[in-house]
Amino acid sequence: MQRRTKIVATIGPATDDPKVLDEIIEAGVDVVRVNFSHGEPEEHQRRVESVRNRARAHGRQVGVLCDLQGPKIRIERFRDQRVTLIEGERFVLDAALPSTEGTQERVGLTYKTLPDDVNRGDTLLLDDGRIVLWVEDVHSAEIITKVLVGGGLSNNKGINRQGGGLSAAALTEKDKVDIKTAAALQADYMAISFPRSAADVQLARDLLRAAGGHGGIVSKIERAEALDDLEEIVAASDAVMIARGDLGVEIGDAELPAVQKHIIKVARAMNRVVITATQMMESMIENPIPTRAEVFDVANAVLDGTDAVMLSAETAAGKHPAKAVAAMDRVCREAEKQHIAKTSDHRLNTRFGRIDEAIAMASMYTANHLGVKAIAALTESGDTPLWMSRISSSIPIYALTPHVETRRKVTLYRGVYPVSFTVDSTDHAYVNKEAVDELVRRGAARDGDLVIISKGDLIGMHGGTNAMKIVRVGDLPSTQA
Ligand code: PGA
Ligand code: MN
Repeated sequence: MQRRTKIVATIGPATDDPKVLDEIIEAGVDVVRVNFSHGEPEEHQRRVESVRNRARAHGRQVGVLCDLQGPKIRIERFRDQRVTLIEGERFVLDAALPSTEGTQERVGLTYKTLPDDVNRGDTLLLDDGRIVLWVEDVHSAEIITKVLVGGGLSNNKGINRQGGGLSAAALTEKDKVDIKTAAALQADYMAISFPRSAADVQLARDLLRAAGGHGGIVSKIERAEALDDLEEIVAASDAVMIARGDLGVEIGDAELPAVQKHIIKVARAMNRVVITATQMMESMIENPIPTRAEVFDVANAVLDGTDAVMLSAETAAGKHPAKAVAAMDRVCREAEKQHIAKTSDHRLNTRFGRIDEAIAMASMYTANHLGVKAIAALTESGDTPLWMSRISSSIPIYALTPHVETRRKVTLYRGVYPVSFTVDSTDHAYVNKEAVDELVRRGAARDGDLVIISKGDLIGMHGGTNAMKIVRVGDLPSTQA
């Protein structure tokens, strides 16, 4: 059985070695994430090019997700890349310090006005809460803190204030420049960090389109305010990411499991894609195997219904990128065998709004109840396979499309597999035969199996899916082009 849950892997220094890149692609990465919080545009471009080249060499379709830094407040860099903070000692966050001059005593800040937002008595959490600083005093550009929880601290780590509420617009000047880079890279998805409202999402979409980008917009749910406006934000987005790192710091880690389930439910019900992210295989940054808790975390996200699970530093900067992908792959496959991952009561009691949606639902209902081996969704935009994939099932959905953008977009949809499919004929019997042949070639079905084909009368028209056909492989009359 193919894995249905998709794997998003962040690329970075650890995947620059061509051998490692090949290994993670072979291990099953569906989408790579380029993190604009680190590195320069040329570096991102080089990485995206090598991923696309190597994916082509492996005959694989790999999507690209560019992740904007957003108004994440970060420390700058250390002279020696890394320091160790000791509990009880003083540490200064200094907005006036040059960016590479961090030491054991002080470090610079990306957000120069942070000292205006912070007061004595605040608790600041660094590196997703690993380091805890208590604010003793604020002196113009300097935030003077006492280390409550110490440990290793390296370049560019994030800073949150406990309880959230730091003021900063969702798109920074850097993001606006990076949106142009995302457009130039032809990113399939662009993630925005810390959106607070649907308006933030719409602005990012407008800027990406203005720059010529076609990618879908992923809203990272990572601040308390976003949960208040969740439905609006989801509606304005193509996908959401449960950004558990920052979200957990803002709302408290114990709240995360329930919130994760809620976000997944809302996203799926609204026909949106959802990525579960952060620390899923965290210990594999160092270790060759995951902890039991990490195995459970990935499996539970699959059972919650996530489309994709994501790796961050595990692949971008870890010691075992390919092993982390392989571990996710095997955990997802096993979890998908459970009954709850395959059955659905989604939309049982709702009315459908569109014809293509109705066909998608009818196809899934039939597929789940008739013992169909595979679905071939002939699609222009990828909408029909998206509707289909909102229904839990064990039946593979092949998105057959002539458009490379659509093939890359569906890399994120649970249970959907991209297939390049171009037929010049408008003869339906011929097109059906070609579609079935394609499934057979892929080993998805063989003689005697039932398959479903969905398509439109007018092949080549967006949103035109209005037909579902059930075919027994081998029974189609032979036709001429
Ligand atoms: P980040 O987002 O990795 O860009 O911080 C994910 C998260 O906050 O969980
Ligand atoms: Mn984040």
